Amino acid sequence: MQNTPVAIPQTFIQELLNRVDVVDVVGRYVQLKKGGANFMGLCPFHGEKSPSFSVSPTKQFYHCFGCGANGNAIGFLMEHAGMSFIEAVKDLAQQTGMQVPEDDASPQDRERAAQQRQKQATLNDVLEKAAHAYAKHLKASPRAVAYLKGRGLSGEIARTFGLGYAPEGWRSLASVFPDYADPLLVESGMVITHEDEKGQDGEAKRYDRFRDRIMFPIRNVKGEYIGFGGRVLDKGEPKYLNSPETPVFSKGRELYGLFEARTAIRVAGYALVTEGYMDVVALAQLGFANAVATLGTACTPDHVQKLFRFTDAVVFSFDGDAAGRRAARKALDAALPLATDTRSVKFLFLPSEHDPDSFIRENGEAAFAQCVKDAVPLSRFLIEAAGADCDLSSAEGRARMASQARPLWSALPDGALKQQLLGELANGTGIGSQDLLQLWQQAGAGHRPRRAGAGEAPVREREPVGDGGGAFPPSEYRSSGAPPAYGARSASHGEAWGQSHGQGSGGGYGNKGFGKWRKGPPPPPRMLGSQRVATSRADRAVGLLLANAQAWDNLSADDHAMLAHLPPPQGPAFAWLEAQLHEHGPQPWVALREALRGHESEPYICAQVEQVTLVNDQASELSELAGIMDLLRGDTLKALADQLALRVQQGDVSAYEEFKRVTDSIKALKSGPAV
Ligand SMILES: [Zn+2]
Repeated sequence: MQNTPVAIPQTFIQELLNRVDVVDVVGRYVQLKKGGANFMGLCPFHGEKSPSFSVSPTKQFYHCFGCGANGNAIGFLMEHAGMSFIEAVKDLAQQTGMQVPEDDASPQDRERAAQQRQKQATLNDVLEKAAHAYAKHLKASPRAVAYLKGRGLSGEIARTFGLGYAPEGWRSLASVFPDYADPLLVESGMVITHEDEKGQDGEAKRYDRFRDRIMFPIRNVKGEYIGFGGRVLDKGEPKYLNSPETPVFSKGRELYGLFEARTAIRVAGYALVTEGYMDVVALAQLGFANAVATLGTACTPDHVQKLFRFTDAVVFSFDGDAAGRRAARKALDAALPLATDTRSVKFLFLPSEHDPDSFIRENGEAAFAQCVKDAVPLSRFLIEAAGADCDLSSAEGRARMASQARPLWSALPDGALKQQLLGELANGTGIGSQDLLQLWQQAGAGHRPRRAGAGEAPVREREPVGDGGGAFPPSEYRSSGAPPAYGARSASHGEAWGQSHGQGSGGGYGNKGFGKWRKGPPPPPRMLGSQRVATSRADRAVGLLLANAQAWDNLSADDHAMLAHLPPPQGPAFAWLEAQLHEHGPQPWVALREALRGHESEPYICAQVEQVTLVNDQASELSELAGIMDLLRGDTLKALADQLALRVQQGDVSAYEEFKRVTDSIKALKSGPAV
């Protein structure tokens, strides 16, 4: 029954880090050149012209002299490829052929998983081969080149995005894949087969899916080829054609251009989500390399979640017509559950005759940057959406707005933004905020399935702290202006808009907390702790975090690793939470409670959450959590310092340097800003 991963043993992580080479891992993403003992390259975290990014094969560590980013192979994958800790470990394990001892999967399950990975790798290879062939065809087709030039694209941009051309003719790919009947060609979506139409040889009819189209290879964040978008050159239908859903390609999850845009997103401080791949490429040509696009589908929470791994600020850009408005509304729905107080989500509506490309060509880059800056914050768009088609001068219209607002407001994670919006909506509907809440709760009770059990908190639509009603005039709210809830990650993004903030969040995983002193393999927290890390604190953290799951995302990757590696019962509880968040994103406790049924941590976790939900005041819970996290970090560091001191006493001089670093970190923690 149980398929939730338990914590990965620290010994395994160490063995893994011993076997992988950080130079290979980084080298998959960054072009490195040998320079003395180290390898140098252009830093992927801050954007630069001359290399200050160094990777040390002896220390198994990367470090940027420009922005200070540093860490090991796992940290690099988390920071640069947007992987979770578990994903990064799995990715590295796969490359070294190690088996992650994470679950009690049966040998058959493992076998199946291995086969699936093998199949995916094979499909990636097929797609990559096709992409290279299309790129070659592009060079040989003056018509296709002329088309791209006509759209203002340089050869360099075409190369960056690996653009190609699928020639006319039904079986062009036969020259690339001699075995045209290979089922992999169909499975990868490159070849279409018609089972009911047999050719003269009695075989099903097969032909290339993409013919006479400009080809946009789609890569996942690892840079693997997962599909294509194809655009007609002249007239023709459909104008855009995408790869079908395959074992490696899911439109609801993948974003075009994310692989190419990662560094630019960090440098610009935000991701720009557009409607199509032509927009992405054109924007990159015009100086906005931080653009990505959905692939002919509405924006999903998976898309938004993926973006929030790379940045805390997302701007959705839409054409100003009715279709654009509808698409924006879907993006709003997708973004709401993820719109925590430390994140910023905005909606940019271009004049209806423009796409980003034509807008910039007509009005210039600065005008577009200004549009981005002035984009509609999520809070305002939510109020607009709630009041859509409502005549607010009539009681009926206001009642309708109250009803339309409920699902939107309820989808927001708890926090300052949600509280302020309650006041706004109360204003708009002319219903007091308390009455509005009560109304919604009644309406919700009718729809909500059973909600029984002592340990279960209701969906946390609770009273705002203080009086939210009418206290906030519209000019005062900004989605990015809400005060950060807590924590080191909550740098304010509001001010960073439109200007580069290379120093900002780029530092990353290895850069803060543990990263300051971690060198080589990470510390073995599993061995620490039980005597030093006060269990009551960790218990309390379990309760607070499970009741406020969205707060997990505000903790650093180091914190995640530290918590997941605490001894049982706390460590496994945090590992379970991380796995849940990874699968489903932040969820209210009621949903987590459901998912927990039958899990071995169920009684323990429920008991901790019960303690918390008795109080039921989110603001104080979050500040308490921030305090506890500081204490836990201190405990963990102290335990490590003790261990190192012991080693030094026993004559292991090599441990001294690390001991110094750890004690420095403890000092820094103490003198750090009080939360
Ligand atoms: Zn850097």
